[in-house]
This record gives sequence, C-alpha cells and structure tokens, in this order.
Amino acid sequence: MSAKVPPILVALPPNLRELLEEPPDTIEGTGATVDEVLRALSEEFPVLSPHLFSPAGTIRTSLIVLLNDDDVRYRQRGRTPVKPGDRLVLVPALAGGSPTRRRRARPSSQSLSTEERHRYSRHLLLPEVGETGQRRIRDAKVLIVGVGGLGAPAALYLAAAGVGTIGLVDGDRVDTSNLQRQVLYTTREVGARKTGAAARRLRALNPNIQVVVHPGRLTSENALRVIRGYDIVLDGTDNFPTRYLVNDACALLHKPYVYGSVYRFEGQVSVFDAQRGPCYRCLFPEPPPPELVPSCAEGGVLGVVPGLIGIWQATEALQLVLGTGEPLIGRILLIDALSAGVREVRVRKDPRCPLCGRHPTQKGLIDYPAFCGAPTEGERVPTVGASALATELRRRVRPKLIDVREPGEWQIAHLPNAKLIPRATLERRLVEVPRDRPVVVYCKSGRRSADAVRLLASHGFANVRSLAGGLDAWAETVDPKMPRY
Ligand SMILES: [Zn+2]
Repeated sequence: MSAKVPPILVALPPNLRELLEEPPDTIEGTGATVDEVLRALSEEFPVLSPHLFSPAGTIRTSLIVLLNDDDVRYRQRGRTPVKPGDRLVLVPALAGGSPTRRRRARPSSQSLSTEERHRYSRHLLLPEVGETGQRRIRDAKVLIVGVGGLGAPAALYLAAAGVGTIGLVDGDRVDTSNLQRQVLYTTREVGARKTGAAARRLRALNPNIQVVVHPGRLTSENALRVIRGYDIVLDGTDNFPTRYLVNDACALLHKPYVYGSVYRFEGQVSVFDAQRGPCYRCLFPEPPPPELVPSCAEGGVLGVVPGLIGIWQATEALQLVLGTGEPLIGRILLIDALSAGVREVRVRKDPRCPLCGRHPTQKGLIDYPAFCGAPTEGERVPTVGASALATELRRRVRPKLIDVREPGEWQIAHLPNAKLIPRATLERRLVEVPRDRPVVVYCKSGRRSADAVRLLASHGFANVRSLAGGLDAWAETVDPKMPRY
C-alpha cells in the first residue's frame, strides 16, 4: 500500500476567487517550482493569468507569494522549489518587526486639567497609559489622509482619545452613497466639504483638541510640506497613486505610516516605518495595472469592513504615540470579514528598495498618476462622448452596447438594450460581441471600458469605441435621473 501524496495547496485571495465561475477555496496545484504551479493555474484558469504574470512573463510585483508563510521573493522567487504538502498563499495589493527602538518623547510638562482627568479617566486607569501616556496623546499630531470609510472611524476614535492635533486631508464632498460607512457625516451634510463637516463633528466630540483642515488632494507638490508638521500619518485613501505618494513622503521624512485598505469583505492593516522596517514599496514595488483593480466604488464594500480596519489603524496610531505594545511594523494583517479570518504575514525590508533600501535611488517625490499607469497619449482608445452616443442611439442603425461592469452595478443602473459582460469574463465571451456592427463599450468611469476596447482590438474587433467618462458622464450630460453610485 503506497502512502497518499499530499497535494500542493494554493489559496487564492477573494479578489481573484471572484473572477472564477465556481471558485474553490483552495486549489490543488501541480509543478516543481512556484512558477510552474502558477503557470499551471493560469492554464486552468486563463482569467487569472494577467493577475499573476506581467506581460514579460514574470510573477507580478503587485502580488506577494507566500510559500508556507514565507515570502518567495526572499528565496528563489519563481524558481523556489515546491513539494507535495506545501501551501502557497497569494496576497494582492489592494485599492489600500518587533520594535527595537522606541521613540518615547517626553510629554509636555503641563499637567491634565480636571476636565481632562474626568474625560480620559478610563485611560488614566490603564497602567500602560496613565497620566504620562494621556499627556503624550495630547502632544501627538496625527494626519489623516482621506476622510472616507477608513479615515472617518479612525478620526472619531483618535479625537475621542484626546489626540491633541488631528489633520484632515480630503478634496471630496459628502455624497449620499458615503453614508453607508463614513460614520462621521450625517444626511444633512450631503454636498458639504468632507474636511469641514468632519472638523465640526470632531470639535463637537472633543473641544480640547485642534483639528486642522487641508481641503484638497494630497499631491507631489504639497505632500512634504503638509506631512512635515505631523508625527504619524494614517492612510485613509482609496487609490494607488495617493498611497504611493503617502508612503514615499513618509519614508523621506522618517514618519511612520499607518496603512489600511479594504475591498468588499476583506482588509489589510500594517505600519510602514522605513526607519524600523519595510515601506509599502518593499512589499509592492509596483501597483497592479489600473484595469485589474476595481475600486470600492466599482466592486462594493460591506460598510463595517472599513470601520473595522479604520479602528484597527487608530489602535496602531495610539500604540505608536504611547510607545507601548508591538506595532504592526514588519507584519501585515489580512482580515476576511466573511470567514472571521485573520492572517498575519511577516514582511521584510527589501535591501534593493529604491526608496528605503541600502542604495536608494529615489530621493524625492515622483509623478504618481503616471507611475500607477494612468493611460498615456499613445495608449488612448477610440471613444465616443455621452451626448454623441445618445444621438447615435436614436438612429436606425444603432451601435451595440456592451456593459463591462459587475452585476451589482448593472442592477443599480444600465443603458437600455445593453448587454452585460463583466470585464473579467470578456475574454472567454468574445463570441457574444458582434463583429458586423459598431460596438460601444461602457463602464462607470470609462476606465474598464477603455481596457475592454484594447482587449477587443487585440482580438481583431475593428469598430469598437469606449463611452468616455462612462455612466458618470452619461448621468451628468444625458440622463440626470439615472441613479449614481
Ligand atoms: Zn522600502
């Protein structure tokens, strides 16, 4: 009787699982190296291939591959041998060590007032906080970049805890679709600037603290100036360009950066402090191509998930302020709210990191939208504007409309006579796209549809255009009654 050979197990992250029609939780892999296992996986599920491999055929740098919880980049990368019984876990970059040196600045000499003693009494009872710790919290300056799903709960708890100076950066206004998770805002504030509405709420919660607003986006021009005035930066952004900008500015200024990101039911939390551990670039040297990253506005998110992650970020920020506990430096937490699963992954500093490695080559900030793959002139695809399309649709020979969004988005709103083929399934459903008449592809913003047009062109479709600005533009210029999201 021969012993049964245990399989190689491959665990896919939720964002890749959902690309498969009948996603298994784990897949049995075959191959002698990491590369071989992932190649076999790509052959079995071609839709995964662009997520696993770059056009050059190497494993994408926006993906961490763990072999038995060890990052293969620190072994032999794709050539790392795999044997039966091993477990491969794939960790994607989402749209979002033990401390040896603790920086415990002496708190300011001014003692707590009677009101402060009363307000923070539950903190004062904790030996890890006490009067000294509370004064340290009062001296702390925390910048929150993006006061949305992550930033809103984090800001509330940091204000309640008595963080003396809270900075808020955000260029958006409150939208009704924010209220499902951005608990700082009320229905009456729809249309108001987020920074102003947030500041009013935080000052009402705790008049002892200073709230500094920085309305507008963080950019390569203002980031160093804004961040310089704070001790810690908490990342509440929802896009890769701002995330790399925050990471780089924090590393250059030697500030710890509390990272969080969410998508649907999953989230990630970590602390990047290039002085004491890896930075975000050490983990993810490059973002995934934009067309492969659905944002929360496209993919959805369960409202409490950013709440969970944002509060976890606030907890980390307070730990850094107090200099107590073991902050998530060199560790990344992966949280899956559906399975109540929490996985901790150890991550290391990349000695070749261009920003914080042994021989850094990047000494300043760069053009982040370009770095994160905003399409350049040469890659532009044929487009049609919303009002021009409305005119074409009234003619006798109308273009065929293909909607490449997700079914949940389709249910909120779609154009009449359109056909739903989600972007991830397009390549295996090409036969459903007509070749004998003009085709117009649309999505929410025009990004996924442009990518779909590129794909269709590469398969020989000649008369295909993308709806510029997507349904957002359609709702703005043609049909203001169309539900927005
Ligand atoms: Zn680095």
